[in-house]
Amino acid sequence: MRILVVEDEQTLAYTIKTGLVDEGFAVDVLNTGLAAYEQASVEEYDVIILDRMLPEMDGMSICRRLRLEKNFTPIIMLTARGSAEEKVEGLDAGADDYLAKPFSFNELIARIRSLIRRSTTKETILQIDTLIVDPAKHLVQRNGINIELTAKEYALLEFLLRHPNQVVTREQISSHVWDYAHESMSNTIEVLIKRLRSKIDKAFPKEKKLFTTVRGLGYKISA
Ligand code: CA
Repeated sequence: MRILVVEDEQTLAYTIKTGLVDEGFAVDVLNTGLAAYEQASVEEYDVIILDRMLPEMDGMSICRRLRLEKNFTPIIMLTARGSAEEKVEGLDAGADDYLAKPFSFNELIARIRSLIRRSTTKETILQIDTLIVDPAKHLVQRNGINIELTAKEYALLEFLLRHPNQVVTREQISSHVWDYAHESMSNTIEVLIKRLRSKIDKAFPKEKKLFTTVRGLGYKISA
């Protein structure tokens, strides 16, 4: 799960990031509105935590623009003021939830989990050939047989399945499955792909091979 934190108060941004990383999330932090808008438009996040007052472009405008562009990534809006009017404004702009400062970290985590549950239960099952992935249950099956994957293997498989029949580059994989603080993960990605191939293709010799390596470009999942 990857989260974008947009907050211009550096200390608060750092505190949120540290807490979320401890909870196992991949976290990117940005301090200005314009950069955040651009980043949210090109990268895929599971949740965006968006401060309302930001330099360059405020949180409300970012939220409205993303929704206009049919970007429905769950957004939690943060504000220094907790008036009912502001809450309504934030929700009208397309935010999914709203949290007034100061808030407890436990409350933030509870809201994030609740948003993730809401957005994942709506998801349909991902399928290619006889491979089935149920994102709500983290369940992976080939031809009806359960396949056990590690958290990172699962994250990579889910990402590939969300882009079927397309070449996905290593850069796309590393930016979705890991946060930017990590160094080059190309070797790790290769290792993960190898393990996925072994569990999903090699373990089922009578089924179609689903993984393709496109030399110099990346990977593709297709039937
Ligand atoms: Ca602010």
